Amino acid sequence: MPEGKLFIGGEWETGTGAAITSVFPADGSVNRVFAGASAADGLRAIERARAAQADPAWRGLRAHERARLLARIADGIEANADRIARIQTLDTGKTLRETRALAASAAGTFRYFAAVLETADEALTVQRGEALTASVHEPLGLVAAITPWNSPIASDAQKVAPALAAGNAVLLKPASWSPLVSLELARIVAAAGLPKGLFSVLPGAGREIGNLLVEHPDIAKVSFTGGTETGRALARKAAEKLMPVSLELGGKSPTIVFDDADIDLAVAGVLYGIFSSSGQSCIAGSRLFVQRGIHDAFVARLVAATERLRVGHPFDDATQVAPLIHFDHRDAVAAHVAAARAEGASVLTGGRAPGGGLYDRGAYYLPTILAGMDNTARICREEVFGPVLAVLPFEDEAEVIAKGNDNAYGLACGIWTRDFPRAWRVGRALRTGTVWINTYKQFSISTPFGGEKDSGMGREKGRDGIRAYMAQKSVYTDLSGRPLPWAGGAV
Ligand code: NAD
Repeated sequence: MPEGKLFIGGEWETGTGAAITSVFPADGSVNRVFAGASAADGLRAIERARAAQADPAWRGLRAHERARLLARIADGIEANADRIARIQTLDTGKTLRETRALAASAAGTFRYFAAVLETADEALTVQRGEALTASVHEPLGLVAAITPWNSPIASDAQKVAPALAAGNAVLLKPASWSPLVSLELARIVAAAGLPKGLFSVLPGAGREIGNLLVEHPDIAKVSFTGGTETGRALARKAAEKLMPVSLELGGKSPTIVFDDADIDLAVAGVLYGIFSSSGQSCIAGSRLFVQRGIHDAFVARLVAATERLRVGHPFDDATQVAPLIHFDHRDAVAAHVAAARAEGASVLTGGRAPGGGLYDRGAYYLPTILAGMDNTARICREEVFGPVLAVLPFEDEAEVIAKGNDNAYGLACGIWTRDFPRAWRVGRALRTGTVWINTYKQFSISTPFGGEKDSGMGREKGRDGIRAYMAQKSVYTDLSGRPLPWAGGAV
């Protein structure tokens, strides 16, 4: 378990900000209480980052040399994968099965961006005069990465790997509910030999250390993953200093089951889409549209399958639905369900915390299916970020496209049908960053990810992921050896 010291520009130091308490939500036991980062700690990290990033030892490193460093970080994550998984499970309550997968994905992300870096060619542009014209990329300088609590090691890697690959210094601020695994990442990065100063991990309050990172003139970019309102406030501040931001925000993703779908595949996909990670996933398929002809039979199967899901302790490999991140978050999820009931929704299953034995000690909430409401109900508009599914019937393609799009968010959607042209049409018509056809919640680091509308702006992952952390520069080099003609007579 990390000691709770902060990683400030390569030095382990005790923070001077407000106390952070990491709690194991499966039983309420305290993992660690420690002082988070204050603005003064952040300023020290920025100072060290500035010096380290400007050092030719880093700026001048060749791509293949920097790639080697990233590959060593990937090795470090793999070598410590069990430890990382356990820390993350204690920090978040996620199942060990899931946190092991997240650790593997974080290693894969560092390895992928090492490869991208080594193969990211610069371009000579088409020559239109007697000059060699080139388009090249430079590091931005200091990048702040601000991450949420739901998949910390994976979100951290998704930002830190491309930002370091691009030659920047990175200041990472994890969420206060899940600070420990990011500190463990700092230990691995340091052991891999990253020069001091280039990486800091600063858990702390959004309004103090988060604001400092966004407002400080030396921070050239903020890459943010979190809630839409936080992202919107951050973007307003970024506009003041004309700073680029990338925003990965919330979602209320529609999953659509047509009457010709393979029902076994669809039931499994819908269940996984909403109830894995206990629904604490930006891309959770939280609005389910089922075509009228199969609606009742499909929903009956879904409810029965939901009631067979194993809700349990995160260290138990049989567990499918683990506790939520925090007792406060469970209360927030329960409040959403209560509001839906007040608006007329009926609970088909779940709708409460389970009781007895280990359930009484942890922040558990039963997988919940709600029906009988309209697409305009709050439960269909607002992100719950918990194991709560709203089910709605639909008649035809045009109706479901209109309803799918009738939402402020635009992160992802799922389409279940055997009719491929229809899946393609509907997928293209829904305004979301990702479309899953006959599958759901699948990811690949080589495939870009991001949202539309209130789900954010910018894309992460993919070969262009590294360019999001670079400044593009055009270079013209004269090939004629003659003075420019305009100045002719005067020279
Ligand atoms: P949040 O917005 O409360 O916090 C996210 C991060 O921002 C945390 O580190 C927090 O401390 C920090 N923060 C808070 N106030 C800040 C401020 N004023 N300035 C700078 N930073 C500040 O979100 P959360 O509750 O941690 O995470 C859940 C949300 O994240 C959900 O809405 C979910 O959909 C979203 N999310 C999106 C994606 C995606 O890729 N689109 C992925 C995961 C989570």
